[in-house]
Amino acid sequence: MRKWILRAVIALIVLILGFVAAAWLVFIYPRRNSHPPLRLAHGTLVIQHARIYTSPTDPPIDDGTVLIKDGLIAAVGPNIPIPTDATQIPCDHCIVTAGFWNVHVHFTEPKWSGAQFQPDAKLNSQLADMFLSRGFTTVVDTGSNPSDTFDIRRRIELGQLTGPYIFTSGTPLYPPHGIPFYIRESAPKWLQSLMPQPETSAEAQRIVRENLHSGADITKLFTGSWIQRGHVLPMPLPIAKAAVEATHLNGKIVFAHPSNLAGMQVAIDAGVDVLAHAADDTRGVTPELLANAIHHNMAMAPTLKMFTTTVTIDPHYMDPIYNEVRTFHSLGGTLLFGTDVGYMTDYTTEGEFEGLGKSGLDWKDVLAMLTTNPATRLGQSDRKGTITPGKLADITILSDDPSTALTNFSRVQTVIRSGAVIWQH
Ligand SMILES: [Zn+2]
Repeated sequence: MRKWILRAVIALIVLILGFVAAAWLVFIYPRRNSHPPLRLAHGTLVIQHARIYTSPTDPPIDDGTVLIKDGLIAAVGPNIPIPTDATQIPCDHCIVTAGFWNVHVHFTEPKWSGAQFQPDAKLNSQLADMFLSRGFTTVVDTGSNPSDTFDIRRRIELGQLTGPYIFTSGTPLYPPHGIPFYIRESAPKWLQSLMPQPETSAEAQRIVRENLHSGADITKLFTGSWIQRGHVLPMPLPIAKAAVEATHLNGKIVFAHPSNLAGMQVAIDAGVDVLAHAADDTRGVTPELLANAIHHNMAMAPTLKMFTTTVTIDPHYMDPIYNEVRTFHSLGGTLLFGTDVGYMTDYTTEGEFEGLGKSGLDWKDVLAMLTTNPATRLGQSDRKGTITPGKLADITILSDDPSTALTNFSRVQTVIRSGAVIWQH
């Protein structure tokens, strides 16, 4: 009798251990790597008879050729010999630029949740809709459920999905009791309880270190959080400073959501690197303050269309924001292209280009926002941002010339990343 019980217990233990091992193999082991290495496509591609904007500052090459070999740009110029095995990319008077960046995106819509277990076709069509059809080859996620972003990134880099390269902040840091009202209204309670609101500098530093260690590439701070409509809560300066310090010690940069003057002042004083929005409450945001932000080497992603689509198009609200961006630019500030897509569910980009035009920017300024400025700010200028031999073949092909109208930046025809065609109109 006793032997029988012993055998049953052993069998049960073996069964449980087997179950745990199987669960680990299926659910945990494949997700261990939040940062798989970049994959380069094999083969040779050629784009001919194109107008090529190799960078925002170099003169365009007319009737030029770009040759791509094994994921990298091999040659660019007016007279490039074409290897016989090269695959032709269709180009009828097309416009070629370096791949676009969008430095403010989110994977917070319900359609991304549980990304590890969602079918390829569904995620591919979502990635194409949100990013690839808009010309983006690199995006910066400024705050989502990290496990969703890590899963999407891993599946893209392993070649299971087709998408842009993703940098991510992981979970943003909020002021104490400082979750914005629009997140409190939409996110489930259990998720809100996981959103870090450090109350001490030591806690802020610990959260930043853990976040970066788990696979985040930047830190995102709500230095000014709209905790109620009409009320911004700034992050205490010592906490913001501690978070910035811990991030910089790890060789990474910090994005901040400023909201108003107080949030902007905390960002400046703490040493934040990028404002993820223009301040939309512009009261007190003077040219002197903007000059001070620029003096502290702070860049800005204005997200103009987000304000017009989620707040109001009222010129009393928008004109001061356009003016803020115009002043920031005219004082020499670095602007980055970002739309807050994911929070904003309209993915089209024309409106952002129109807003940038209203802020006095020309097509070269906008091309820099889309390519060289973010590549430099994210420390990627040795491999992204311009069409230069030796760099990654990240290329956006347009059907119409943005030098004649800014909105032509949205007329995307073909997108190539690391030498692979990832989207075609
Ligand atoms: Zn956002």
